[in-house]
This record gives sequence, C-alpha cells and structure tokens, in this order.
Amino acid sequence: MTFQQVYGYEPSVRYSAPGRVNLIGEHTDYNDGYVLPFAIDRRTVASIGQRDDRLLRVASAFEPDAVHELSLDELDPSRMSGWSAYVFGIAWALCEQAGADLSGKSGFDVFIESDVPVGAGLSSSAAIECAVALAFTDLWDLGLSRKQLARVGQYSENHAVGAPTGIMDQSASLLGEQDAVVFLDCRTLDTAVVDLALESNDLEVLVIDTRVEHAHATGGYKARRDSCERGAAAMGVEALRDVSVDDLPRAQELLDDETFRRVRHIVTEDQRVLDTVRTLREQGPRAIGSLLVASHESMRDDFEISVPELDLAVETAMAHGAVGARMTGGGFGGAAIALVDREACGTITDAVTSAFAAAGYREPNVFTVHAAQGARRD
Ligand code: ADP
Ligand code: MG
Repeated sequence: MTFQQVYGYEPSVRYSAPGRVNLIGEHTDYNDGYVLPFAIDRRTVASIGQRDDRLLRVASAFEPDAVHELSLDELDPSRMSGWSAYVFGIAWALCEQAGADLSGKSGFDVFIESDVPVGAGLSSSAAIECAVALAFTDLWDLGLSRKQLARVGQYSENHAVGAPTGIMDQSASLLGEQDAVVFLDCRTLDTAVVDLALESNDLEVLVIDTRVEHAHATGGYKARRDSCERGAAAMGVEALRDVSVDDLPRAQELLDDETFRRVRHIVTEDQRVLDTVRTLREQGPRAIGSLLVASHESMRDDFEISVPELDLAVETAMAHGAVGARMTGGGFGGAAIALVDREACGTITDAVTSAFAAAGYREPNVFTVHAAQGARRD
C-alpha cells in the first residue's frame, strides 16, 4: 500500500525517524539517571500531503484499508485511540506541551510505513512520533528544537497514548548520529553525542529478538517504578540518581532486601553508563564488554526483569566469543544485544538459533543494526 493508493495523489514531502537500541542504562530514565541509546538503521517514514481544510487524516501500512481522521479543532486525547493516537497525539501535544498555536493552520494527509519491528523493544513508537513531530513542526513552521520535540513525543506517549515511558526513545530518535551513541542525562536533559566507532573496530551489534512479548505499561514495569520511588523516599532523595555507589551500604541497612536490590541495580547501572561513556572515549568499544555483561547480570539478579530466553541469548553469545552482551529495553521479553566481531556474526547467530531450538524456545529473530542518523526530512 502507498500514499497514492490511499489518498489518490502523490505526497509532497517525506520525513523519517529511526527506532533505537539502548546500549546501556536500563530503567534509569525514570530515576533521573543516565542512558546511552543509539538510533538504528531501521526507520519509520511519514509521507505527507498538504490539505486546504482543518482535517488531519492518517493511514498506515500497519493497518491496510483504514483511514483515521480528526479535525484540528477537535484535538483531544479522548477522541484518540489505537495506533492513530501516536500521530494525532503529536499534534495535540505540540499545542498542549509546547504551546503551539494551530489556529489558522491547515491539516495533512499522512501515510506511515516502517521497517522498525513493532513491540521488539526497538521503539517503533518513538520512530512514528518523531517522524511526525519533525514533519508537523517543519510544515507548520513552529520553530521547535529537537530537544523540545523529544518532550512533545514523550508527552504525547504519556498522555495521548497512555504509556508511562521516559524520554530516552525520542531523544535517541531525534538526536542520533551515524556510528555514535547519545548520552542523555534524564534529569537535566543535557545530551552529548559520543563516538561508538564500531566500523573502524570491525565490530557489529547483533539484535537477538526473542519474540517473547513484553507488557510494559502493566505489572512488572509499574512494580519496578514503585520500588524505585519507595527506595528514593526511604533514602531521603528526590530520585535514585542522587544515590551513589558509596551510599549502598546505608541503603542496605534502611531497605528491605527486595527494594535494596532494585535500588542497587539503578545505582550501579547509572555508574556503568558513566563508565561506558568514559571507556568509549578513552579506550574504544572493545573495552566496554564487561560493563554490558555486568548490566545484564544486574537486571537478571537484582532488578529481576530478564526472562530465560534473554539469559540464554546473552550466555550463548558470550560463550561463542561476543565482546559483550545484555538484554535491552524494559525487560520481561523483547531483545538482547551482543557486541561481536564482524566475522563472528554468522557463528553467533547460528549458535543462538541452535540453543533456542534445543531449549524448545520460539525461533529468535537475529539481525545486525548500525548506529544511524536521527529524524530527518528525506
Ligand atoms: P515498541 O515501541 O517497543 O515497538 P510500543 O508498544 O511502545 O512498542 O509501540 C508499538 C505501537 O506503536 C504499535 O502497537 C502501534 O500502535 C504503534 N506503531 C508503531 N509503528 C507503527 C506503524 N508503522 N504504523 C502504525 N502504528 C505504529
Ligand atoms: Mg515504545
């Protein structure tokens, strides 16, 4: 399906934005901490035609034969549901969160296509939000910066879609650069682009999508957030970002065992992000392997958000010579990443696939990703 087939004319512009992989820094975002994602070479494209009335129409190859529409005069989350809320929500959040004035603006026809896998922890949601946010800002001439657009995307996902997520995904999708990671301080929203330099080191990142479904908005995710809030309150700080590794003995005295282990994951993970940034700058990507593995072990044992499929993916990759590996994303399923020598990609892919078959797990989807440029007009 194409824009032309849905709307009967050719689009005037295309904008695209990538999914992302988080190299390290998991569940640290809502604790005001640090994350280190990169934009990937899988993108969502929004093709757009200008209308001369106030209507916003959206269609996606994701749901053939459906066209959703909403007037710019009716933008409100109560009128949005399903996947189209990811698009309509951006228009609403541009007004609500960023103070844009859309009176006198006309609407668009929008068609969405994507090769970002949905629900695999690669943030197809941020890809659609950021492609649309950049397009609307440009075409309505709103003059918002990429950092402002990241907040708009998060606000829309939180309040129009209703998913309680942090700002990491949108930041990576908007600020990513080729062969580089985005270091983001989730409290100040300061960002720095740090060279990943995989290409010159003959390294690749393998994504191992376990195809185990993750259910973010519910259960485990909320329970972890609650534990973190409890831990911060007991420690007398605003967020766990304010607790350092040296404070952990005191935390252990104050907290019950489970809350302590949740806190220890966040506190050590923040430190691992800082260590990864320093190591990348001083020694390059081959030196970060042990940090990735330590991150995985912390999520498996302390934060308890891994699943047997993710553990098997990480163990098998490491047993077959990966430089490092860890689960990535919110957990309870989704994907692991492995940092591997380019020439070892085939061996490790085969080893993981065989190990999954031997364990009786669903066949994983294993592929390489490259750190790519963020959202752009194509
Ligand atoms: P993830 O971001 O990990 O892929 P989410 O549950 O956060 O998973 O977002 C997935 C949702 O985003 C989909 O269920 C759908 O509503 C929306 N979405 C993503 N990509 C597209 C697309 N190409 N077309 C329409 N909706 C999409
Ligand atoms: Mg998402």
